[in-house]
Amino acid sequence: MTNTLHDALFAARAGADAPFLYLPGRDDLSRADFARLSARYATTLGALGLKPGDRLALQVEKSAEALALYAACIAAGVVFLPLNTAYTPAEIGYFLTDAEPALAICDPAAEPALRPLADAAGARLMTLDSAGGGSFPAAAEGAAERFAPVPRGADDLAALLYTSGTTGRSKGAMLTHGNLLSNARALAAEWRFTDADVLLHALPIFHAHGLFVACNVVALTGGAMIFLPKFAPGPVLQALPHATAMMGVPTFYTRLLAEPRFDRAAAAHMRLFVSGSAPLLAETHVAFEARTGHRILERYGMTETGMNSSNPYEGERRAGTVGFPLPGVELRVVNPDTGTPLPDGEIGMIEVKGPNVFAGYWRMPEKTAEEFHADGFFVTGDLGRVDGDGYVHIVGRQKDLVISGGFNVYPKEVELVLDGLPGVLESAVVGVPHPDFGEAVLGLVVPEPGQAPAPETLQQEAARQLANYKRPKRLILLEELPRNTMGKVQKAALRERFAGLFTG
Ligand code: AMP
Repeated sequence: MTNTLHDALFAARAGADAPFLYLPGRDDLSRADFARLSARYATTLGALGLKPGDRLALQVEKSAEALALYAACIAAGVVFLPLNTAYTPAEIGYFLTDAEPALAICDPAAEPALRPLADAAGARLMTLDSAGGGSFPAAAEGAAERFAPVPRGADDLAALLYTSGTTGRSKGAMLTHGNLLSNARALAAEWRFTDADVLLHALPIFHAHGLFVACNVVALTGGAMIFLPKFAPGPVLQALPHATAMMGVPTFYTRLLAEPRFDRAAAAHMRLFVSGSAPLLAETHVAFEARTGHRILERYGMTETGMNSSNPYEGERRAGTVGFPLPGVELRVVNPDTGTPLPDGEIGMIEVKGPNVFAGYWRMPEKTAEEFHADGFFVTGDLGRVDGDGYVHIVGRQKDLVISGGFNVYPKEVELVLDGLPGVLESAVVGVPHPDFGEAVLGLVVPEPGQAPAPETLQQEAARQLANYKRPKRLILLEELPRNTMGKVQKAALRERFAGLFTG
């Protein structure tokens, strides 16, 4: 047995001197440099006693070294467990106890707070800083620069990624070597990646989007990445003339559009802009094309499944949709109560099956069983529909569905109406407790810059387009919507904030 994922992504190949990572302010790394660095790290993992199947937890700033640790884990058969840099020590404590990593690596500044937690969980704790220093790199000084990859099959675990867990405990999604490789291959082919590509990488690498979608596709196809520590309009605008493709969350694109310097000339060297992780407003899609001539390619995926669907590279990229199921991925929409497949056009639960779908939740066999059907389909928790042309539309998470007076209200439908009203930039619709209706529809509206639409007027306008039970009972203007680092609107936070509005 070989280690197919490692060989496909990271093995030395012809063109080893080709650039792999452009690192602002630091020396670039070629494919060969990166292979040497990750081989040293893989050797060091072995020297520290890590065995195939052991977990390595990592909560550090984005760096070439952090990415090399991921490659080292793939080579050594160690399960990579990246953690959001925003997690507090208390949250990290839970992940360490749940995943029982043999080794945890954190930023030196977090070490004092994490030390007792790592000790309690029986994990060795080492450090890595954003400049590539720390106790782990120090231990790897002088380690062998060649490492024979540990044989791994398609079903062996490659990574453990915890879901954001807005309801209940966060769950560890077990992703296999086969999951990651099949998805990277499907995306590389769909999006036409080659060794001539330079990806502008401004996403975090603790999440599936920045780590698997972005890095795996580029590693697989032999191109390079401009590896920015985070998204900021200035550095992104500087990098664009040297890049051919960019992957981002919708906020990247709205923030670029807010820059007058971002125009057709700034995007002239690019061949592809991809968006995902949260819904891209149709308005953003249209404004982006008007400004740059590029149609953003929107795709849909999740931690548990990698990517499920994508708008076409050639062919119509339809705003407000997430395109067609990827080759090899089966996608169906079913009645959430009965599990019966629904005809095109009807809204229901999106379920998927394919080589991209994860192996289950870490140490949660009951939870895993609940989310899979006997025929292998995974219940995504996303509501959506497939239109007559086969494009998939996402309506939102089932847990965000509002049930008002016994009627289902899909927040997205109301948000689309609100977004279309004059003076409205964007909106979020949530359900909050109501004494008569159980839940009431609440609209949170962000006005266009410099505008102050009257909530009553907006409410009247919306009422003209929406059935009575869908109309927001109240509209509140907000300066901005709360979002996490992946650009997702934090509806749970909004529900909490306004929970007492009608009952309090
Ligand atoms: P995560 O597991 O953090 O990647 O979150 C996955 C969830 O993000 C999905 O289940 C969807 O609810 C949402 N999502 C991802 N991509 C899109 C998209 N293009 N449009 C709408 N929602 C999306």
